[in-house]
Parts: sequence; structure tokens; C-alpha cells
Amino acid sequence: MCRVPTSRSTRRSATSAPPRIRRPSGRRSNRYWRRSRSNSPTEPHRIGANNVKSTRDSVFLDGRPTASAGTAQFTVVNPTTEEPYGNYAIGTAEDVDRAVTSARRAMAAASWQRTEVEERCDLVLRLRDLLAQEAAELAELHARTLGTPVTTGRHLGGAAGLIDMFVDSARRSPWEFLRADPGGRTTLVTRQPVGVVAGILPWNTPIRSEVKKVVPAVLAGCAVVLKPSPEGAFTSFAFAELCTKAGFPPGIVNVVPGDGATGEALVRHPGVTKVAFTGSTATGSRIAAAASPAFKRLQLELGGKSAAIVLDDADIGRAAPILSRANWGNSGQMCVSLSRVLVSRSRRSELVDALVEHAQRQVVGDPRDAATTMGPLVNRTQRDRVLDYLQTGIDEGACLATGGAPAPTSERGWFVPPAVFADVQPTARIAQEEIFGPIVTVIGYDSLDEAVAIANDSPYGLHGAVYSTDEQRALDVARRIHSGSVAINEFYLAPSAPFGGVKQSGIGREHGPEGYDSFLEYVSYDIPAALATSLRAHGLRDG
Ligand code: NAD
Repeated sequence: MCRVPTSRSTRRSATSAPPRIRRPSGRRSNRYWRRSRSNSPTEPHRIGANNVKSTRDSVFLDGRPTASAGTAQFTVVNPTTEEPYGNYAIGTAEDVDRAVTSARRAMAAASWQRTEVEERCDLVLRLRDLLAQEAAELAELHARTLGTPVTTGRHLGGAAGLIDMFVDSARRSPWEFLRADPGGRTTLVTRQPVGVVAGILPWNTPIRSEVKKVVPAVLAGCAVVLKPSPEGAFTSFAFAELCTKAGFPPGIVNVVPGDGATGEALVRHPGVTKVAFTGSTATGSRIAAAASPAFKRLQLELGGKSAAIVLDDADIGRAAPILSRANWGNSGQMCVSLSRVLVSRSRRSELVDALVEHAQRQVVGDPRDAATTMGPLVNRTQRDRVLDYLQTGIDEGACLATGGAPAPTSERGWFVPPAVFADVQPTARIAQEEIFGPIVTVIGYDSLDEAVAIANDSPYGLHGAVYSTDEQRALDVARRIHSGSVAINEFYLAPSAPFGGVKQSGIGREHGPEGYDSFLEYVSYDIPAALATSLRAHGLRDG
């Protein structure tokens, strides 16, 4: 039976009736609509101006925007107003070939080959500063094209911290070292740039995604061709322009916008050595198949359905706001969402009450409004998919404690209010499949072994969390979760820690020295003892 929360504060709202959505209205609305009308392709947003004034100038290569060979157009639509923001030509196989050629040429240039790592660090640190200068403009762009609230968008997904961490990794890691073999020989181990990198991006972490593909690659001496998601193309154009402004040599960072066919042409291009992909597990599987005949290096950051285990001694008052952030931040469109909340049955009502209360506190509305905490979903398809899952949860018999479909209305915007499903069966579709929206599923357990078994009963293994007042006990439980990362009493991913998934959540690690390392290839030279002695005398170290 569906038992909705019982506390006085939440009973009022604990129905399937959705929280109110704040749409632009009154004075604020007038300003908003006036500004949003300037989103037309003829009056482009400042950052993307060079790219939208001619809709065919949508391939970024040799350090500048240039005309696409394609004629098919993609229109980016503002998810709040459902009005066009701008359009661009979808990249063709010919565009991909030109971009890869540009990247190969740039990487092979003697001037780039001669750059010291310190010079490359200077380049990316200049990029970091330019990103900081443009943060407010970029946040506006993301509000208009992706629905990201400006208040969170201004942090650019922690891009500055990621850049600092990659610079630190590059400065610390030696390009060459010696390794003595027990058999008496010595090897000179060198690290070399892996080659041209295809960076294929999702839309949900703008700038952060670009930084994670471009910065470690450039520090390692590689060149990159980015293929942004259709909705995220203007972000990648802006990013590439800032790379040029920071002094990156032409061709080191290129962008070909487009769809899956553009991405596949890039993956299959013989000039690409490594594919660094972030996106869904289904697409990751197709990319792996396309990359495998040529044994391209693969880094796949894929989907998730991560579990948060709330132990019987947890401080619910502390855990609930963290779980709220972990599920309703970015309208739940986060790969690392803690969307399966496993709670000891003895604490079930308390936790559900707290989650409902936090859901009700979310301000759903215009992402350009400073009070908004949740904007719309990125596009109509995503909105419809999330609404389908809401219906699936109800059909599966879970208790919809709060949230639900927005009331039918002629008003615009792809909004879905936060939803909490309680009493969810661990095998239910809403508990097994990645929804990528603001729906949290609460699952009860009776014993710790049962909680761990439920947490691990997933095709995914990206992230996780454990909440307990006994931190050592929480860590002991965390160690039993089969996942790439687990947070104790938090929802956090340190830039310095390796990040990535196990099982169907991916292959490889980003962030930290490990993330930087994945853009390098090791080459070993077996050398005679006398040469090794001479190299040591000249300062080369063993490693
Ligand atoms: P998606 O898989 O639909 O698309 C990702 C990118 O792949 C887009 O640029 C798309 O155009 C491109 N693409 C599609 N088909 C392709 C093909 N056959 N060959 C090459 N490229 C192709 O994902 P999305 O909807 O943009 O993003 C949401 C998904 O991304 C979610 O599953 C989410 O969990 C995942 N994600 C994972 C991480 C992570 O770090 N693990 C981070 C963010 C998002």
C-alpha cells in the first residue's frame, strides 16, 4: 500500500499534485521575454556571435569558425521558451575529415612538438582565466540553450578546479625515466602523446565536458576534435573561441557539431587514435564497436543508477539536503545522481518525509531567475521520457510521495517538478533504468547484507554514497559497493581522484593524474648498461 509521508509539514503537499512551476511572469516576465526574443539566429548571443551570424559557419578548425560542407541544419531550442536560440549546419564526413586533418597538422608542427609542458600549462591556465572572465556570459548561454539555472551555471561545473588539477598532474609526471630490470638490463621508459583525440560530448555538463577532453589532451601534447551534443554545440564553439584567444595554436582544438552520424564518422576516421566519450551506455556500446576494428584507445564515461545507502544510524537531517542536491541538481540530469536511495525500514518514513520536504522547497522555473533551483529539462524528448517513467512507476505500484506530471497547460517550457517514489521494488524498472530526470526512488531494506545486495544489483557502477553517524562503519559498507566511486556522508567528486565507472558505466578514468595519463602512450627502449649509467649521470631518474 502506498503510505505517503505523515509529518504535518509534508502532508499538505504529499500528493501526486505537482509543486507550482514558476514561469516568467509580471515585470520579470516582460524583461525576460524581451531578452529571450534576442535569441533569434539574427541577434545571436555575444559569445556565439561569430558562429551564428552565418549558420553555415559551424565547423571550428585551424583556430576559427569556417563553413560546413553540410546543408542540413540543427536548431537549438530554448527549453524554457521553446523558441529557437540559433541554428548551425550539421557536420558531414567531409567536415570531420577537414577537422582531423587540421588536428594532425597542428600536432605534427615542429613548433608544437617543441613546446615544453610548462608552456602548455601556461596556455591552459590562460584558458582557465578567460573562462572565469566569461562565466556569467556562459551561464546565460547555458540557461538559454540547456535550461541550466544561472546560479549553478556560473561555476562552469568546477572547470577551474579541474584545470588546476590537470596542470598539477602534468607538472609532476616525468616524460622519461629509467627502470632497472632484475635480469640486469635497463629500460628507458618514455611517455608520448597518444595522438589525435576525438572528444564526443553530452549536453548536461557544459564546459566541464570540454575541459575534461581538451585540457589533459593538450597538456599531453595531443590535438582534439570535439563533437558536441546537438544541444551543446554553442558551448563548444564558445570554448574553442576562448582556446584561440588563450593562444592555442590553430588546429589544436577543433569542433564539428552534429548528430550521431557525425560522431560515428569521427570515431571511424583513421586519423583519430583515441576516443574520449561521455554519454549514454547505449551510444558507448556503438562507439566501442566502431572503434574496435582499428583498436583505438577508448575512454568511455557512461550512464549510472547509483545507490545511496542510508544506514539505520544516519543523521537524516544532514543526509536529506545532500540527497536533494544529488537528485534535483541540474533537474536530475546528472550521470552521478544518487537516484536509488536505500533506507533501513526503521528510518523509512523519516527519510521520505525529509525528501518530500526538500522536493517541495525546490524552485522550479525560469533558469535565468536567481531564485530558481531547477530549470526545465533539456528538450522535449527528455521531458517526455521522464514523464513516461513517472507513469511507469505508478503502474509498477510504487508510492508517488510527491511530484508528478505538470498540469496540462498551454504555457511553454519542458518542466518536470521533483518526484519521490517510495516503497519501490529493487527490480522495478524505475529502480533499474537510468531516468536522467528529477525522480528519486526510495527502496527499503531490513539488513545490511540486503542493502549491499540491492546496491550491487544494477548493470551500472558509476558512483554511490553511504550515510551514517559512524564513519568507519560507512566506509566498511562503501567498500562492499561495486562502483567507481563512493562518497561518505557527502555527494562529491574530487577533481584529484580518478573518476569513472565499472560494469556498464564505462571504461577508463578521468580526473586526477590517472585522467591525464590516459592521453599518453608508453614507449620502452631497452638500453645497454653503459648508456643507462650515462643517462643517470645526466640526471635521469629511476621510476
Ligand atoms: P548520448 O549518448 O545520447 O549522446 C552523447 C554524444 O554521443 C552526443 O554528442 C551524440 O551526438 C553522440 N553520438 C550519438 N550516437 C553516436 C554514435 N553512434 N557515434 C558517435 N557519437 C554518437 O547521451 P546524452 O543524452 O547526450 O547524455 C546523457 C547520457 O550521458 C546519460 O546516460 C548520462 O548518464 C551520460 N553521462 C555520463 C557521464 C559520465 O561521466 N559517466 C557524464 C555526463 C553524462
